[in-house]
Amino acid sequence: MGAFLDTPKTEKYNEHGEGNGLKYGVASMQGWRLEMEDAHRAITGLEGGLTDWSYFAVFDGHAGALVSAHSAEHLLECIMQTEEFKAEDVIKGIHSGFLRLDDEMRDLPQMSSGSDKSGSTAVCAFISPRNIYIANCGDSRMVLCRSGNPIFSTRDHKPGLPAEKERIQKAGGSVMIQRVNGSLAVSRALGDYEYKNVEGRGPCEQLVSPEPEIFVLDRDEENDQFIVLACDGIWDVMTNEDLCDFIHSRLLLTDDLEAVTNQVIDTCLYKGSRDNMSIVLVTFPGAPKPCPEAQKKEAELEMAIERRIKAIVAQQEGKEGFDFLQLLQYLMDEDLPNLPPGGGLAAKQPFIEHIFREVCPSRADSQH
Ligand code: MN
Repeated sequence: MGAFLDTPKTEKYNEHGEGNGLKYGVASMQGWRLEMEDAHRAITGLEGGLTDWSYFAVFDGHAGALVSAHSAEHLLECIMQTEEFKAEDVIKGIHSGFLRLDDEMRDLPQMSSGSDKSGSTAVCAFISPRNIYIANCGDSRMVLCRSGNPIFSTRDHKPGLPAEKERIQKAGGSVMIQRVNGSLAVSRALGDYEYKNVEGRGPCEQLVSPEPEIFVLDRDEENDQFIVLACDGIWDVMTNEDLCDFIHSRLLLTDDLEAVTNQVIDTCLYKGSRDNMSIVLVTFPGAPKPCPEAQKKEAELEMAIERRIKAIVAQQEGKEGFDFLQLLQYLMDEDLPNLPPGGGLAAKQPFIEHIFREVCPSRADSQH
C-alpha cells in the first residue's frame, strides 16, 4: 500500500456477454497502483439445472492477488457444492460457501508457508428468474438501479462500524485511524489469515471475518434497470447516485456495455481515483435503451466543448505556460450545461484531450 506508479496503467481488460434476458459488460484497470490485485467473474447460465440463474462477482485483493484470484475462480463452485445450496436454501448455501472457501484457502501452500499474506473483499450476486441474492464481505459494493434510482446498496464493512468494532475489540484487537489494529482498512475479507488466529473464537468472531452479509431482493421486471458491482476504486470517487445517473445517461447513448464500463473507469481516474478499478455492469430487460434524442444532445455537448476549447486556445495564443491543465481549469470555470450527470467534466476528459491535441498539438505533447 501507499506506493504508486509515475503514470497510471490505463490499458483495460474487457469482457461482455448475455443470457437469461441479461446483458453484462466488465472493465478493469490497474491505474496508479504498482500491481493489479482485483479479480471478477461473470456467468449467465449456471450448471446443475440452474441454466436460468446467473452469477456476477467482484473481488478486491490487498497485499497480493492470490486470494482475489483464487476466490474469483472458486467461490461460485464452493457455494453451489454446499448441501444447503443443493437443498435450495440459497442463503445458507452462500453463507457456508464463503466460510468453506476461506477455510480451504488457508491450506494453500503459499498460505500455510506464510509467504502470502493476501486478502480480498468479495461482493457477488446470484440472479434467478424471481430474485437477486447478494452477498457482501468487505468494502466492494453492489447497487441496484430501479426506475432511475439506486434503491438498494450493500453496506461497506469498515472497521469503524459499531458491530464490526465490537467484534474486533472482543477478539482483542483495536480500531485506529479507521483500520483494524491501525493497519487493515476492511473488517471483513477472505484470506488475511494473520487476523484470524485468535484462540477460542469461531471464524466469524475473529479480527477480520469472512462472513458475508446476505440480502435477497424480489425482481421487478418492469422497473429494474441494472446492477453494478464494483470495488472501492470506483466508489471512492463516485456516490451510488452519481454512478447510477452516469450509467443511466450512457445507456441512452449506446448498448455497448464494455464501452459504458470503460467510460466509468476513465471518469473515475480523472476524478482522482488512485486505486485498481473493476466494474461489472448487468442490465435487465427494463434498462434504458439508446435514443436519438439523447445522442443528439451529447453530440451538441461535444460541439459546444470543441467551440469553447478553440476559443480558449485562440485567447491564450502565444501566452507562456498555457497547457492542458489550464485548459481544464478554464472549462471548469465555464460551467458548461448538459455535462453527463454524475460524471461531469471528468467524463468528457478523453474527448477534451483529443480536441486539444488536434487544435494545439505542440502544447498537448509538452504535457507529460
Ligand atoms: Mn481497492
